[in-house]
Amino acid sequence: MAYDSNNIFARILRGEIPCRKVHEDEYSLAFHDINPQAPVHILVIPKGAYESFNDFAATASDAEMAGLVRAVGKVAAMAGVAEDGWRLLSNVGENGHQEVPHLHIHIFGGRPLGAMIARQP
Ligand code: 5GP
Repeated sequence: MAYDSNNIFARILRGEIPCRKVHEDEYSLAFHDINPQAPVHILVIPKGAYESFNDFAATASDAEMAGLVRAVGKVAAMAGVAEDGWRLLSNVGENGHQEVPHLHIHIFGGRPLGAMIARQP
């Protein structure tokens, strides 16, 4: 599927929609989630046009990959969750319940986060 350049995170990257920025560098942007699920809930996104982890893993450059991973670590430390523990998560596609079609890494922390995946009823 072709990348949708009008998705909400692409618009944030272009400055068309505001965000509460936490960190920015050559390869990534990090900002607070608009609907936080934990006391710390930050999204880290690559600046490149990648729909999900699928195309990022397949086609991003080594520098883009290293940039994103290092930004995630840096943001977790900046947010003060590195010591107590935190979770990173990236939803992919329909079964992964991905809502925004631009790769994003969620950083959750600030409280015990419970089980990893919701159990089937
Ligand atoms: P997904 O389900 O795709 O993994 O997560 C998308 C996330 O983006 C959700 O947690 C949602 O609250 C967040 N989100 C959606 N629209 C916006 C927005 O306009 N600004 C910010 N900061 N977060 C958003």
